[in-house]
Amino acid sequence: MGPNTPIEQVPKVGSIFVKRLKRLKIASVEDLVHHYPFRYENLGTPTKISEIPLGNVASASGEVWQIKNVRTRYGKSLALATINDGSASIEAVWFNQPFLIKTIKQGAKIGLAGKVGLFSHRPTFINPEYEVLGSKATSRRSLHTRGFVSIYPETAGITSKWLRARIKETLPTILPRIGETLPRDSLTRNTLIPRKQAIWQIHFPENKKQIDSARRRLAFDELLITHIAALERKSTWTRNISGIKLAVQQEKVLSLISNLPFRLTNSQNKVLREILNDLTGEKPMNRLLQGDVGSGKTVIAAIVAYVLFLNGYQTSLMTPTEILAVQHFNTLRTILSPLGVKVSIQTSGIKREEPFDVLIGTHALITKSTSFDNLALVVIDEQHRFGVEQRARLRVRGNTPHVLTMTATPIPRSLALTLYGDLDVSSLNELPEGRKRVKTFVVPPVKRSKAYQFIRENTLKGQQAFIVCPFIEPSETLASVKAARQEYERLTKEIFPDLSLGLLHGRLASYEKKKTIDDFRNNRLSILVSTPVVEVGIDIPNASIMMIEAAERFGLASLHQLRGRVGRSAQQSYCFLFPESVSKQVLQRLRALEEHHLGLTLAEIDLKMRGPGQIYGTAQSGIPSFKIANLTDLPLILTARQEAAYISTHHDLKKLPSLKREIKKRSLVPPD
Ligand code: ADP
Ligand code: MG
Repeated sequence: MGPNTPIEQVPKVGSIFVKRLKRLKIASVEDLVHHYPFRYENLGTPTKISEIPLGNVASASGEVWQIKNVRTRYGKSLALATINDGSASIEAVWFNQPFLIKTIKQGAKIGLAGKVGLFSHRPTFINPEYEVLGSKATSRRSLHTRGFVSIYPETAGITSKWLRARIKETLPTILPRIGETLPRDSLTRNTLIPRKQAIWQIHFPENKKQIDSARRRLAFDELLITHIAALERKSTWTRNISGIKLAVQQEKVLSLISNLPFRLTNSQNKVLREILNDLTGEKPMNRLLQGDVGSGKTVIAAIVAYVLFLNGYQTSLMTPTEILAVQHFNTLRTILSPLGVKVSIQTSGIKREEPFDVLIGTHALITKSTSFDNLALVVIDEQHRFGVEQRARLRVRGNTPHVLTMTATPIPRSLALTLYGDLDVSSLNELPEGRKRVKTFVVPPVKRSKAYQFIRENTLKGQQAFIVCPFIEPSETLASVKAARQEYERLTKEIFPDLSLGLLHGRLASYEKKKTIDDFRNNRLSILVSTPVVEVGIDIPNASIMMIEAAERFGLASLHQLRGRVGRSAQQSYCFLFPESVSKQVLQRLRALEEHHLGLTLAEIDLKMRGPGQIYGTAQSGIPSFKIANLTDLPLILTARQEAAYISTHHDLKKLPSLKREIKKRSLVPPD
């Protein structure tokens, strides 16, 4: 048996279990031993039965003096046992487990752990964990009922106890065949325990210290591997490939800028210089532009596309949603068409016009083969929606274009270092002048009608409001659409019969979406009821009220994005958050929005409270899924990053086969 042995060849793993294990993504022996516990129960050391106190969790072992099934008056079945360890006897009771008497036999030695309470007036283990430790002669040490017991991610039909037993049986054979990934000097420099030891300890620790050192080592490996992969991507990017070198025609660019209806902020100017600097260099640009909602990223993209046009090259701008593609199309057309730039759009619903200098579209642009004659710049808006792999694929298409990714979801430093180790980063850290903070309120149910009244008064004065219903499932499914439609109908009939409302969701046909948004943009609709499709990027300056239903279902970063849909002009804007639940925790989290108005601060708070997957939505985020590494652990991230750089320069990966194998297994490097 080796690491690659399929799981069905492991003793006691029948075909039913193979299926169940699949749900835990366990297909091989290696997957099994890398299925790490997410917590431990400390059952302590076995106590003499005579000394077990009532009301606590205890652990004991002894001989089964008797065991029997009894039925209660209400038809429930109980397994009752008496256990004696020489100091005293104690009872144990299990509810609805009539088959136990086949496993636990009179005369056997067993271990027990669990809560001890009174049952029929006697001290009793209530539904304890148990394990048969053999007969008196062949007794073994307990695995499930003493000390730190590992608790694993489980699935129907697979318990932690079962996993623990299989891992315990498998590990001694497998462990010698698990190679050390790190060179010895790395271990000493970073005070790490050997990998084999870490894998043993993560499953079967003897104390808290062993848990900590095992976690640290295994987390370090995950981070290190991600960093090395990023370094490799970066070095391929800069080593093998030369960029398309461009010239900047200063006067023309300055003339475009001076014809804009506003003055660029200092931040926008700085970022623009950084980008133009990349474009005139030898290497293809690979830059992340991050800037809070409303900081004005689109116009940067427009200016850069113009530079490309002046050099005779095409630009493509990709967005996560069709709605956003249409909006950008309109913005860029307004800015660029007067200068002779042909701006076109392509989405699943709209066919592009040929020829074009700038093509805007959804990511269907990448997946379907769109041919460009002369593509030299790819701009990806709202980048966190694109996976790392998609980014990578983009880069290897065609002629190594420059890549500019733009995101409004601010990324805490710890996360950015891990995710975007291969990108250069520019930040827009100021908003255009004159913007007012969006006044934000978490609204208790009793004040709902007041909020509606507020909306009515303000829309009658000509302002506009968004009402956002949450996704019911992780993405926009029919159920979510239905919920939004029902809310729309309720609001139209019962709350705002005198106002004009529109409904927007991702399942509408393109022309319907376009019409609804146009109507809202031109103030023919006062209220837009929508699923969170408006989250990303929609820019309608006259909208000044944002109301969000079931707000706690969103991450703070998403709520901040939604809130960013208002406050885009000089008028005072408002954001109302309606929570579904009023638990203290929920309210506390949402209140962060009343207080904080910087996306980065909010993202950091949420990262601490809910973890990265929750913030960015795991499936689409491009965040590598870590089993054990904690993305808020900045010190360990920095250490691993430093070590990755050291290993990359001082060691030959060919001589570190185990490390190489792990990198390959997790690697996000595109095939070349
Ligand atoms: P985001 O960074 O969220 O993508 P947008 O590019 O949509 O922001 O810009 C938000 C709004 O701010 C737009 O209406 C845009 O025209 C406007 N804007 C951009 N830059 C400036 C500026 N320097 N001064 C004033 N308004 C600006
Ligand atoms: Mg934007």
